[in-house]
Amino acid sequence: MATERYPHLKVTDPTVYNLILQQEALERSTLKMIASENFASFSVLEATGSPLTNKYAEGYPAARYYEGNAVIDEIEDLAITRLKALFGAEHVNVQCLSGSPANQAVYRAVMKPGDKVMGIPVSEGGHLTHGWKVNFSGKDYLQVPYGPNPETGILDYDQIREIALKERPRMIWCGTTAYPRTIHYDKFAEIATEIEAYLVADIAHISGLIAGGVHPNPVPYCDLVSSTTHKMLRGPRSGFILSRVEDRYQQKYYADSKLNLAKRIDRAIFPGLQGGPHMNVIAAMAVAFKEASEDSFKVYAQQVVKNAQTLGAYLQEAGIHLACGGTDTHLLLLDFRAEEFTGKDVSQALARAGIICNFNMVPGDQRKPMVTSGVRMGTPGITSMGMKEDDMKKVAEWITRVVRSIHTETAESVEKAVAAEIADYTKSFKVPGLSD
Ligand SMILES: *Cc1c(COP(=O)(O)O)cnc(C)c1O
Repeated sequence: MATERYPHLKVTDPTVYNLILQQEALERSTLKMIASENFASFSVLEATGSPLTNKYAEGYPAARYYEGNAVIDEIEDLAITRLKALFGAEHVNVQCLSGSPANQAVYRAVMKPGDKVMGIPVSEGGHLTHGWKVNFSGKDYLQVPYGPNPETGILDYDQIREIALKERPRMIWCGTTAYPRTIHYDKFAEIATEIEAYLVADIAHISGLIAGGVHPNPVPYCDLVSSTTHKMLRGPRSGFILSRVEDRYQQKYYADSKLNLAKRIDRAIFPGLQGGPHMNVIAAMAVAFKEASEDSFKVYAQQVVKNAQTLGAYLQEAGIHLACGGTDTHLLLLDFRAEEFTGKDVSQALARAGIICNFNMVPGDQRKPMVTSGVRMGTPGITSMGMKEDDMKKVAEWITRVVRSIHTETAESVEKAVAAEIADYTKSFKVPGLSD
């Protein structure tokens, strides 16, 4: 028999209880196709919801500023050991509160205010923290922009090298929020080494692909790697940094400092930016790292890519254009530049039909960022539900029907019909962390 969910909350705060159940019902009956979302397991949720939330543990294992942390040290050490093994990293920090704070710590560890940082602008698929003007990263540092080729949508490494040689940034970000193709860290590493820049991979979106063995691992090529844990990696909402121990530019930039790169990262997080770590979340990270190290996660990661490629092929067959001509990853960018409707029109129509994704700029986009010509979608969520290639045929049909009906008289009835079909279809799938 299914046990009752949230029995205490139901009694003490029925308002919040009902809102949580409403969101759960929504996620059970629709397709979660936001490329940065996924379903954490019950085990991850249980650790996140544990009384570890109460403990203060400022500092690091065996060097805390509060008493009573013997067990807490074991938990953080476990998360550290598992994370190091998962990516083959020399040093890790698991205290970052999320992806953006992790990136903030990266700047603090290797940059001085006013230094140049090479990053992809938000409008071309970079993250806010890669130097966008309204973010701390664009206010405190000077962004040297680069991006995918507007015609092909692909990163052009010769062009990236040219910009790097001309501008000589102190640091280069490689990592995006909307790039469907493989990132070649070896090529970035050659460029960074040539100009003696720090190379940092931001793998927030693709850490699950890397852990699952279906995307190259940046660790051998990069000085630092930052990530979230709540995207495809299926952990709690959090972040981490992987680091080399020694700084290859110590003499150049930090000759006076006794701190190596690993120590500078740890100090940047605490006491530089944060106070007490979220130990409930760090315990949940340890759980997620164990899950991600299992063979079943490799099978999952392979299926995520197979599903994205299969879905992409069906959509192309139906006449929908894909940026970059397809995908190597979990992510598809649907390109509607040639249509009279916008990316926002499509994402809103799909949402009404039970397919949840987001509008997104595409390479060469002429429309404004608040409407765009593209839609970004990903397969991590629906693959966690258990969907396979056959199901992608259904998903492609639903998307195609909704897109074709946009701005026609039948739009509303098509959206309603598709929403009902999806609500019915999803009943037979087990959703991690939601279905008993
Ligand atoms: C999601 C993401 C982040 C930031 O993560 P938050 O946890 O939302 O702060 C950073 N970089 C990239 C590339 C991302 O996709």
